[in-house]
Parts: sequence; C-alpha cells; structure tokens
Amino acid sequence: MSTIQQNLQDVRNRIAAAAQGCDRAPEEVTLLAVSKTKPVAAIAAAIAAGQRAFGENYVQEGVDKVQHFAAQPEGATLDWHFIGPLQSNKSRLVAENFAWCHTVDRLRIASRLNEQRPADMPPLNVLIQINISDEQSKSGIVLAELSALAEAVAALPNLRLRGLMAIPAPQEDYQSQLAVFSQMRDAFLALQQQYPQVDTLSMGMTDDMTAAIAAGSTLVRIGTAIFGARDYSQA
Ligand SMILES: *Cc1c(COP(=O)(O)O)cnc(C)c1O
Repeated sequence: MSTIQQNLQDVRNRIAAAAQGCDRAPEEVTLLAVSKTKPVAAIAAAIAAGQRAFGENYVQEGVDKVQHFAAQPEGATLDWHFIGPLQSNKSRLVAENFAWCHTVDRLRIASRLNEQRPADMPPLNVLIQINISDEQSKSGIVLAELSALAEAVAALPNLRLRGLMAIPAPQEDYQSQLAVFSQMRDAFLALQQQYPQVDTLSMGMTDDMTAAIAAGSTLVRIGTAIFGARDYSQA
C-alpha cells in the first residue's frame, strides 16, 4: 500500500470516527484532497486509492493539473475545487476549468465567473467565503454582509450557490474550534432556509477536522494528512 493510500485510509477513518462521535453518518462529510504544491504523481496515487475530489489554491498550477487529468481515463470522474484567493484577472481560468469555487467574497468576482462560465458547462458551484475569526485575513466577508451577497449570487444563472466556506484562525483547543465552527453552522442553516439548493458547509482542515465535523461540516479540506507537509521553497 502506498503512503498516500494509507494516509487516505487514515483520514477516512478519522472522518468516520468524528461523524459517529456526534451521531452523523460518515457519508454526510465529503473529503476534499487538497493537492496544492504536490506533483501529479501524488494526485494519481490518490486517484488510484479511490479519491475523486481535489482542491487547488493557485490558479495556473490548478489549471495545469485539471488539464493533465482531463486527458486521462479517470478524468471525467474527478471533481476539481478552486479554494485559493481569486483575483479578477484570473477568474476566467477558474470559470473554464473548475467545477467549484469556494472563495467568492465579492459581487465583482461572482459576476465575472458568471459571465465567463462556458455555456456548454453546468453552472459553477460556488461557496461564499466568510471571515469568521481571522482579523488578519483580507479574504472573506463578515456575516453581516452575507444576506446581500447571497441574494446577488443566487440570481446569477451560470452560478449555483451551494453554501459557505471558512478558514478560521488557528484556535488553542477543541472547544474554541467548536465555538467558531458553530457560528458558521448557524449561518449555514439560516442560508439553507432561504435557498433550498444550499447543501455545502466547507470547513475543517488537518488540524481541526474533528471539531468542524462536530459542528456540521459537510466537506473537509485536507492536505497535510494525505500528502504530507508542503514544501514552498520550489514555488
Ligand atoms: C492548504 C489549505 C487546506 C489544507 O490544509 P491542511 O492543513 O494541509 O490540511 C485547506 N483549505 C485551504 C483553503 C487551504 O489553503
């Protein structure tokens, strides 16, 4: 068994244990494998181990990988999620290559993605990124801005509003993680009341996935626990 195959199995077991620990079905939680900075060989190993959903942070690197795997036999079965900060001048590449974008945090980006989504592709699935706790970060909107942005995004025909995403600042302990993620869950449940197609709450990474699942996450974004530590010195 390859290391990546073993790691994936361990992560799936952690997800299942976290779900069962709070009376949720493990199938309610999608595992997104975050492959940023990792070579296509690592992604191929994960695919061989049954993984289908991948997350990328850097537009050009992500597009190169999407196009590489599009030419492979498994290509059509993969789901590519863009999860990095998005500049307007790169929006077309995301609209043309990805199935999901988790980092919509202003109408200008949403409008561009909507205009640039090719007519022969299904609507782009989008999540609105919430800045739930990280005052240092410029990414994401505050919760007070959510209802106006959600209304505008939901009206765009080539986008499909699927839910919310957050990257909380690292918390000291499990209870603090849970408290932050619970604010996200409350916002998510309220959004779902208004928009029935909303079904995705993207939160939880290698160090906080258990608390995220306890708070209701439907999609965890896991990099390090699957692919090992990242090396940015080559970037
Ligand atoms: C890198 C990254 C992840 C994965 O983080 P790990 O701690 O390696 O699991 C998840 N989400 C986003 C948005 C990221 O940038």
